[in-house]
Amino acid sequence: MSVKRRNCGWGVWLALGLTLSVGSARATAATLAEGGRTDYRIVIAAQAIPSERYAAEELARYLERMTGAKLPIVTDAEPAQPKEILLGDNAHLRSLGAAIDFAKLGAEGYVTRTAGDRLVIVGGRPRGTLYGVYALLEEKLGVRWFTPEIDFVPERKRLELPRLDETHIPALAYREVYWTEMLRDADFAARHRLNGNNYALTEKHGGRGAVYFPFVHSLDALVPPELFQEHPEYFPLIDGKRVNGYVQRCLANPDVLRIATARVRQWLKEHPDANIISVSQNDAFKYCQCDLCKALDDAEGSPSASLLKFVNAIAANIEPDYPNVRIDTLAYQYTRKPPKTIRPRANVIVRLCSIECCFAHPLETCSAPENKRFRDDIIAWESVAPVVYVWDYTPNFAHYEQPFPNFDALQANVQFFTRRGVKGLFEQGNSSRGGFGEMGPLRAYLLAELEWDPNTDLKRHTQEFLHAYFGAAAEDVAAYLDLLERQTRDKGFHAHIYDPPTAAYLNDELIDGADKLFDHALRAAENDAVRSRVEVARLPIWYVKLAAKRVSGDERAALLKQFLTVARRAGVTDIREGGSLDDWAKTMGGE
Ligand SMILES: [Zn+2]
Ligand SMILES: [Zn+2]
Repeated sequence: MSVKRRNCGWGVWLALGLTLSVGSARATAATLAEGGRTDYRIVIAAQAIPSERYAAEELARYLERMTGAKLPIVTDAEPAQPKEILLGDNAHLRSLGAAIDFAKLGAEGYVTRTAGDRLVIVGGRPRGTLYGVYALLEEKLGVRWFTPEIDFVPERKRLELPRLDETHIPALAYREVYWTEMLRDADFAARHRLNGNNYALTEKHGGRGAVYFPFVHSLDALVPPELFQEHPEYFPLIDGKRVNGYVQRCLANPDVLRIATARVRQWLKEHPDANIISVSQNDAFKYCQCDLCKALDDAEGSPSASLLKFVNAIAANIEPDYPNVRIDTLAYQYTRKPPKTIRPRANVIVRLCSIECCFAHPLETCSAPENKRFRDDIIAWESVAPVVYVWDYTPNFAHYEQPFPNFDALQANVQFFTRRGVKGLFEQGNSSRGGFGEMGPLRAYLLAELEWDPNTDLKRHTQEFLHAYFGAAAEDVAAYLDLLERQTRDKGFHAHIYDPPTAAYLNDELIDGADKLFDHALRAAENDAVRSRVEVARLPIWYVKLAAKRVSGDERAALLKQFLTVARRAGVTDIREGGSLDDWAKTMGGE
């Protein structure tokens, strides 16, 4: 990981935020566009890959929106001229004698540099150049992508060429924000430089960085449950009996290994794009305690021993034929602690899951014992695993619409992960079809910003988003979020992802204070779009009142009706992980 920044003055006006219209003039700066006209053009290689051509189109599109000037896109087959933006590796760049270390840049790193009147944006393939363009637009030129529908492009009568000399390689190689608000639009995800498995990223985006097959919990697919009738010995021995259903497998059984290995090889043939194969436990406990499994797990001090030995054997088997494919497994619940001596092979990814933790306070500093255990485990894995990814959790999964006071800890947690050498981060959110869970659009935005740059100015991003999204109601919504965070910040209440609507932090102070703030926000809202967003932001407070039975009789019936009207208008489909809004409405006595 390396992030090097040298930045001549542009950071100053960026820090001033969205209100500033034009950067301060520098005597030596070249003018990129003025009065809707430009002398510049964008140059790509005649042999540019699709993501480099798309990078040129995106850059031209946003520069035109900023300045009114349309930059032509040409190839390096044309003779060079002094005023050019050079995108990607091309003949004009090479004739400048620019030394670019492409091996170091990898698939996503990039260099942005000014050379005379030229601007160079060049990255590793397939995504580096496109990411360089997005980073320039966002970090230097003030463009913002808040939601797929709401962006901000500062207008400039005169735009000077920024003086740049930077090399950037993302701290996280795998970045995935699993919120509907990010999943539903691949162009939007790409602009945030997310490269995860579940985005519909195509060639023009440079594809995905992590292409999993399958994504997780693959034991049923590896060794089918139907085999139990004939081979109960493939299945876990629990309390002296082989059990079936949604369970793990006896990983010490050589036939289980043989069947699973064959299945992995079949997947690799059927999914030639996959660069990560999941060999991971089912989403259950029920692991094998036969003599063989138990002896190894006891000796190694953790049931992760049997799993890792099994995973390593498959990883060793495929490595000669598939040197660029890695096997991913979970360190999750009963396997979260690493074994004493068994080490993951170089082509194994360990994905550590934080599901039990308190998320109100930073994982690293919260006093809850579950957080201390997680800290111990991540530190232990870091020292033995070649590649650690984290699977992290960001809403309340039992109550998607319930206030979840984790904003305080988001940045500290991502920083903690990267400081511990984590290379990939999957931020699980509300991924229901309709989205619009509690603060979904804001959460998706902030998490994307953090995954790209763990040290980014998250406060500024929060303020910018709230102003863009909630308009004149932004201050009230900001005050509401602060009120929510205050319930856990100083009071010693922890917050977990399955907390009930009666959790201690969902108290009168929050509910009464939130009602006042949202009443005010609705009066402040300047138009129907903002009013509608404020109502959706208020759903969590109504949800707590309904689900915790804080209201009764006619008041309850009216509030339920109002809740359902606002939620359905927003398109909310799910009220919890695996539970529909419509089913919930029925259990609540609504329609
Ligand atoms: Zn066993
Ligand atoms: Zn805590």
